[in-house]
Amino acid sequence: MNQPCSADAIRSIAIIGGGTAGWMTAAALARSLNGRCRLTLVESDEIGTVGVGEATIPPIRQMNALLGIDESDFARATQATFKLGIAFENWRTQGERYFHPFGRFGADIGPLPFQSYWHVLARTRPDLAGPLDAYSLPAVAAARGKFCWPSPDPRNTLHNISYAFHFDAGLYARFLRARAEADGVERVEGRVGDVTLAPDGSVDGVKLVDGRRVTADFFIDCSGFRGLLIEGTLHAGYEDWRHWLPCDSAVALPTQRVEAPRPYTRSIAGAAGWQWRIPLQHRMGNGHVFCSEFMSADDAEAALRRDVDGAPLADAKLLRFATGRRRRVWQRNVLAIGLAAGFLEPLESTSIHLIQSAITRLLALFPDRSFAQADVDYYNATTAREYERIRDFLVLHYHATERDDSPFWRHCRTMPVPDTLAARLDLYRSHGRFFPVELDLFLEPSWVAVMEGQGVRPARADPMAAMEADRLADLLPRIRAAISRAAEAMPDHARFIAENCAAGQP
Ligand SMILES: Cc1cc2nc3c(=O)[nH]c(=O)nc-3n(C[C@H](O)[C@H](O)[C@H](O)COP(=O)(O)OP(=O)(O)OC[C@H]3O[C@@H](n4cnc5c(N)ncnc54)[C@H](O)[C@@H]3O)c2cc1C
Repeated sequence: MNQPCSADAIRSIAIIGGGTAGWMTAAALARSLNGRCRLTLVESDEIGTVGVGEATIPPIRQMNALLGIDESDFARATQATFKLGIAFENWRTQGERYFHPFGRFGADIGPLPFQSYWHVLARTRPDLAGPLDAYSLPAVAAARGKFCWPSPDPRNTLHNISYAFHFDAGLYARFLRARAEADGVERVEGRVGDVTLAPDGSVDGVKLVDGRRVTADFFIDCSGFRGLLIEGTLHAGYEDWRHWLPCDSAVALPTQRVEAPRPYTRSIAGAAGWQWRIPLQHRMGNGHVFCSEFMSADDAEAALRRDVDGAPLADAKLLRFATGRRRRVWQRNVLAIGLAAGFLEPLESTSIHLIQSAITRLLALFPDRSFAQADVDYYNATTAREYERIRDFLVLHYHATERDDSPFWRHCRTMPVPDTLAARLDLYRSHGRFFPVELDLFLEPSWVAVMEGQGVRPARADPMAAMEADRLADLLPRIRAAISRAAEAMPDHARFIAENCAAGQP
């Protein structure tokens, strides 16, 4: 092991928990610290992991790059399929569908965002404008069941295709564990029974129920919803957002896959929540997220069993949660990552990304043993903002709906929303404008896709775009046709997997 470079340097880190959060953190720290710190991970086979979390968003590719992971190896090891976005069914009204694609819409045709020009033509010549989806290569490719990796040629339309993965959560943790252990992380199996504090109130060790003790300079709490150290010991507090995001339960049920894997996640709204369909190579991941105030767990499971296509492969698993965030994710020498830090329900597949972003922020603010308060405060404040921005985006899906066919949807339509979201809705309804703010994970194209999909419409077109009206009738259909041609030339998603990364292939 290399010597630490200062007397104050962190010499040992204990990660408590071996779910997706624990092993992502362990793998990333082992790679980044390169032997300069002793890394131990404690996990309990008896307690197990949450076992869900199978849809991701495109930044996961940066995590793979940080870890030096080859995408084909990764897809083979985790039974992965590719994801070009999410199809939202029955969200605006029953029977209606829209697509939230990754990446941008259209092309650069002036100083304004593409949708401002599309709005102009959609008002005057809807027949020529067509739907906004038609200007997204991932959306068109997804609808046709196509996928390929981006073209290396920047002039090729396929150069900018944006994608993520669906994968098996258990296999992903196993894959990361192998890398982390190869990079020197020591795994300790056992249940933490007690946490001991130093006189200054920081954590100095955890005691396992079999009597073993693990000590470290710095503890990362990846113990899941229970937040063993951050809440159980340090009582950091929790900001509960269920008044804005009322779903608080989910039933998960894996089934056999009975159709070719679609290159996108399906989110299908129901009477008191929504169901997910996540295609993997070896099975389907299915679940029903619901609000316990409006639906019982038995009814949620019955609806899921009724709606899934293939035969169940395991027992249904019920999960309860409170959407919200830990008030201080970093306190003294304890940092919470993953479900221990907070939970935003899985509607836009953001939790694994929040783990990744927490790791990136930790590396940027890596402490020494003084745990400088300014660094800790900055970490906590930026984490809080990041959660709030995603929260607003999720609330948008529930609130901007025309559904009034159940008490749940009538509640969501009429509930007050955060002021920050109300301001964004007002701005969009005025002239179709959207401006990113610091720490926005979802950028303009995502907000526009969901606002339009949920039926939020600007009262007027952007006046600057309206000045360009004459050339749009010719230009936009040409862009649409180019995207359609590019999508048609892509291979079939299932064939692409079979040829490049089928599990079991060398
Ligand atoms: C219904 C649902 C659907 C989801 N879907 C998605 C999705 O599609 N995309 C996405 O990005 N995210 C999703 N998530 C979130 C995702 O599952 C989690 O972010 C991810 O799995 C990380 O979990 P974790 O590692 O923090 O916690 P866990 O998986 O709960 O792991 C906790 C670890 O701590 C250990 N532990 C706990 N207590 C002790 C103890 N006393 N002693 C020793 N060890 C202990 C456990 O054994 C386990 O190893 C979903 C979550 C839910 C609830």
